[in-house]
Amino acid sequence: MQSYRKGLLREKSNRNPKACRCVLLPFVIMIAIVFLAAGCSGSGRVKPPTADYQAENAYMQMAIDDARDGIYNGDGGPFGSVIVKDGQVIGYGHNRVLANNDSTCHGEMEAIRDAEKSTGSYDLSGCVLYTTGEPCTMCLAASKWANIEHVYYGCTLEDNSSIGFRDETMDEELGGRDNEDDYLSEMDRDACLKLFEEYMDTEHVIY
Ligand SMILES: [Zn+2]
Repeated sequence: MQSYRKGLLREKSNRNPKACRCVLLPFVIMIAIVFLAAGCSGSGRVKPPTADYQAENAYMQMAIDDARDGIYNGDGGPFGSVIVKDGQVIGYGHNRVLANNDSTCHGEMEAIRDAEKSTGSYDLSGCVLYTTGEPCTMCLAASKWANIEHVYYGCTLEDNSSIGFRDETMDEELGGRDNEDDYLSEMDRDACLKLFEEYMDTEHVIY
């Protein structure tokens, strides 16, 4: 059937050169769209080099990988986040404060927005968030607004401060987090500290 149709097309195009252009036009348009889409979806972004460290937890590793993509493309700080529900990743994101000129685009916020978009719901009950750095006050509150069940973080607030971020000072100003032990757990700090070292070794802007 296919070859029959192709044969007909060939016959038609032989008879009428204009028909040939009509047949090819949709393909040309399609190829142009594919190239344009590739351009919009971030082709041309820098691919991070292979890392010489790895997290033990697979989701934390995904958060690190995404954070590295952000570092090498100048998007923002070394913070990546992944949101998981029933063993499935439903959202992820990395810090894009510099890329978007938006101080709320922390990795956790990006992941929450992504998960809520992908699920079509503002309610992330039953979800767990993995993030390379302990969440700042904004992201901690956002996690609770989204009903995220638990947060695993790599580097601590002190570690965040050690590479120039203001999380710890802000946290003290806003009353600290002494009551969050059941909600926040440290995980894979060593691998995330390596990520922070990598960030410090690359050209970056502190904000
Ligand atoms: Zn934050």
